[in-house]
Formats: sequence, C-alpha cells, structure tokens
Amino acid sequence: MTAVTFAATAATASAVPDAALRTSVRVPLHFADGYSTEADVMTFTGLVDGREHLLLGLGDWRGALDAAAHGGQAPLTRPHSECLTGDVFGSERCDCGPQLREAAERIAATGGFLAYLRQEGRGIGLYAKLDAYALQDAGLDTYEANRAVGHGDDERDYAMVAQMLAAVGASRIRLLSNNPDKASQLRGYGLVVDEQIPTGVHLTASNAHYLATKREVTGHLLDLA
Ligand SMILES: [Zn+2]
Repeated sequence: MTAVTFAATAATASAVPDAALRTSVRVPLHFADGYSTEADVMTFTGLVDGREHLLLGLGDWRGALDAAAHGGQAPLTRPHSECLTGDVFGSERCDCGPQLREAAERIAATGGFLAYLRQEGRGIGLYAKLDAYALQDAGLDTYEANRAVGHGDDERDYAMVAQMLAAVGASRIRLLSNNPDKASQLRGYGLVVDEQIPTGVHLTASNAHYLATKREVTGHLLDLA
C-alpha cells in the first residue's frame, strides 16, 4: 500500500483557538508484547471541548520538529481515539490495540507525536459503543448500529489535535492513519498534512467484518485481500 501525498494547501483552513502546554512528564512505556519506549506525555489548557486529551512526544520529537522547521520531513503523527476495550483489554472486535502498539513504535523510530483522544467509540461514548456492539451481534453493521442508538456514524472532531500540535510548534505533519476524514479535518483546521501514511492491517476472525465496513462505508485505506 502506498502513501497518499497531498498538495500543501490550507485554502479552506479555519483557525483553532490557542491551547497552552500545561505539564510534560516523562513516562516509560512497556507494552504487553515486550516493546518498550519512553514518551513525553503532555497536557494542555484551552482545548476546545474541555476534555483531558494527551499528546505523547515519542522518540526524538524535538529533533523532528527542528528538521521540519528547516524544510525537512515533517514529524510522523497519529491521532488515536480512546478505545477502552481495544487499548486496555485487547478486544478483538476492533483493531485499536494493535494500531496503538504499531503507532508507538513507528513514531518513536523517527520522532513524532501520538495524540491520545478521549473520544471513545468514534465519539459516542463507552456505554453507547457497547450498546451498539449488542446491536451488531443482532446483525447491524458498525455504522447502522451507531445510528440505531441515536448517534452519527462518526462523531469525532480533531480540532484539539491541531491545538495541541500548534502549542508544541508543529505546523506540518505526516499523518499515520487509514482514515481520510482525519486528513481532511486536520487540513481544515490549518495543519499542513504533507502525507497520509497507512497503518498495517490487523485482521482477525473477530474484526474482519468491522474492517471491511470501515473500508466500504468511510473509505478507510485498508487492503484486506
Ligand atoms: Zn477499538
């Protein structure tokens, strides 16, 4: 699978309000499969929705920012929306846990950012997500189930990603994501997305239908062949 390159344009960009760095704490990370790295975990004031989103600086992220400021490659960056069942418990109903793990290593290798966003279940919340799972077990797909519990297909908004990145001096990124909506929203918020780089495909018997639906309904860049 190849990366998608965009012209660097911010023609329709709307500015986001300024956020400010609040704290930065060094945290050693150790994943269940043995991979280890360290993150500068940053918190902010002034985020648009008032929730406690995090920005993790991984690898030599300061060096990556410096290189980008001098015309080099932009820092690899992934916005990851919280998924309690996938990230913490290793649920195989989705691919969030393996994507988070993959992103940490790939970003740490080149220096960049992982934005950990407190918008569970594509923004509908944990209980509603679990209600939607029950409806999926009765035959609805992941998007039909969201609508059946009174929510949109995807209620996530990425303004706070643009805010957090601006607060640390990142105006250009290479986006690690399969989701075309993340790229278009971030560009709309004034961030320059040089490139969209797909994550690996983490296919299991339990998430095959979910991944196929993401590809077919919302145009995710997923090669499920
Ligand atoms: Zn998930």
